[in-house]
Amino acid sequence: MADCIFCKIIAKEIPSNVVYENAHTFAFLDITPIQPGHALVIPKQHYTDLFDAPENLMQELITTAKKIATAIKQATGCDGVNIGMNNGAAAGQAVLHAHMHVIPRNKDDGLRHWPGQKLSSEEMAEMQRKIQARL
Ligand code: 5GP
Ligand code: ZN
Repeated sequence: MADCIFCKIIAKEIPSNVVYENAHTFAFLDITPIQPGHALVIPKQHYTDLFDAPENLMQELITTAKKIATAIKQATGCDGVNIGMNNGAAAGQAVLHAHMHVIPRNKDDGLRHWPGQKLSSEEMAEMQRKIQARL
């Protein structure tokens, strides 16, 4: 897509630290890593997010993300890895080309888990029913 920064990175019109690519996926270092080694895994074809990307492509993305996570763990010696995908501006998505973050984590790295809230058993059951009805 013409104005997409990640499409330009794939086309090598914008430089990046590429770590891996195959027929349908591409992985490179995030320009502002949460931790050194933080990488992004993206489809070569432009899709906005999880919702418009085809299922088989999402499978390819997670396959590449696992490969990258394993290499990052070995390369950095990190204690753990987060894989995350922001879908929609409300979820923190700034670049509108679908991507998975692969983030090395260490004990005492200062990052905190997102806060949880306690729902009543009725609220939980209602949400369970609503989601199940759409699957
Ligand atoms: P989002 O918030 O959309 O999930 O994350 C987008 C990520 O892309 C951010 O972590 C940001 O640092 C990264 N990013 C944005 N522009 C560039 C760029 O030009 N090059 C690289 N390597 N990463 C970028
Ligand atoms: Zn794009």
